[in-house]
Amino acid sequence: MGYGRKIYDEACKKLERSRREAESAAARKAEDFYRLCPEAREIKAQMGANACGAARAVIQGGDVRKALEGLRDKGLALQREYERLLSSHGLSPADLQPPYACPRCKDTGFADGHMCQCLKQMQRAMAFEALSMNAPLEKSTFERFSLDYYKSDPRAFRQMENILTACKDYAARFRSNSSSLLFRGPTGLGKTHLSLAIAGKAIEKGYGVVYGSAQSFAVALERERFDRGGPDSPGDTNSQLVSCDLLILDDLGTEFPSQYVNAALYNIVNTRMLAGKPTIISTNLSMQELEQRYSQRFASRLAGYYGMLEFLGTDVRFLRAQQYS
Ligand SMILES: [Zn+2]
Repeated sequence: MGYGRKIYDEACKKLERSRREAESAAARKAEDFYRLCPEAREIKAQMGANACGAARAVIQGGDVRKALEGLRDKGLALQREYERLLSSHGLSPADLQPPYACPRCKDTGFADGHMCQCLKQMQRAMAFEALSMNAPLEKSTFERFSLDYYKSDPRAFRQMENILTACKDYAARFRSNSSSLLFRGPTGLGKTHLSLAIAGKAIEKGYGVVYGSAQSFAVALERERFDRGGPDSPGDTNSQLVSCDLLILDDLGTEFPSQYVNAALYNIVNTRMLAGKPTIISTNLSMQELEQRYSQRFASRLAGYYGMLEFLGTDVRFLRAQQYS
């Protein structure tokens, strides 16, 4: 599990708001009831005092058991009277309970010493939403990946069918120590689509995914280089890219060339590799071009440690546009 601190904190804040709202709604309801039935307020106060009596009895010593039994009987009698007053106003005890969004954990996020499903689900939704803001995650599912576009070329069709199967399998078995993948091939053959389909499945499983184009990462890395101490906290992008469970680096080679970014990308790829963390890189550069553009050691990391998937076919975006024209 690793959606990251930011998402966890946000989810906890959201739960806390929900808990406070539920509790103040219950307090308002009780107040309405006491206005109609001042006796009930009196009894509620006695119930509170009675509960404190138990501690007092223990501290004072004497026949504690007898004292506690007396307090218990009194407590039960007060409870019965309170319920009678409620029902005489057409209410039940449940009506004055706070209307928690999650009755199991009472909107605390934890139940029986474990993180509640509601908090897990909330983090999953937030992670999905955060990623969807810069990627068409909902459109890019395995179900929506159509092999029809590759049918005109039997070789491409077979290859893409194998790639789709491999990606589905990878997503189904995804873990924090899965292998890394290199999607290679011309633009418009579904590299982004399939990497996002994997991202969606990884998020569903509770993993923290960072997705972005090499261009957008390059801009963020450069900005942080010159803007240390800025409001976005220095080195945020770099540390996120290094530490996330799954990094998806899209369109490697389309970013503006920079020695600094090249070194930073090598460092990110290498650190993740040493830590055994999976990375998915897509590029339309050949291995030779990768070596020329970055470095021999960068290309050899990819060649040595990444499972390579070679995308074939005609630009499906072009075919899709033709179909609708
Ligand atoms: Zn819950």
